[in-house]
Amino acid sequence: MDIDLMLTQAKAEGLSISLTPEQKLRIVGDKSIYQKWIGQLKNERDSIVRFLKIEPTPLKTQFIIDLMNCGVSQVQAQAIEKKIKAKNESREDRTLCFECKHLKGYWSAWRCQNQDKAGIGRDGSLGELAYLLQRCDGFKKNE
Ligand code: SF4
Repeated sequence: MDIDLMLTQAKAEGLSISLTPEQKLRIVGDKSIYQKWIGQLKNERDSIVRFLKIEPTPLKTQFIIDLMNCGVSQVQAQAIEKKIKAKNESREDRTLCFECKHLKGYWSAWRCQNQDKAGIGRDGSLGELAYLLQRCDGFKKNE
């Protein structure tokens, strides 16, 4: 499972997941939720620590505000921003549609306005593709 997705889900269920000053994983929460997640979190411990070391996302950057204006919750917008930061930190060359000027629409109804170059169907509907890292011929960085 994607690390940010895993952390977002675990946090949404009530776990607090953070780093100690010694850069160790600190997991706090209700016992039943803790037991549900602890195995998976331990298995991915190194990746989670790396992910959490990335500079924390400010509560509301302009990017987050723009996504929230499209119906994305603040938590989801922060997760998307963090995913982009993590990708850039790891020098990943794929991109998300959320970085592209051709993305239009709103939460759960994202559309591509460069569908011919991107190889998307005529109506430009992106569905889950909007959330996946990809190499797209139509991509143009949002300034
Ligand atoms: S051009 Fe490509 S990256 Fe840009 S919105 Fe369309 S599918 Fe996404």
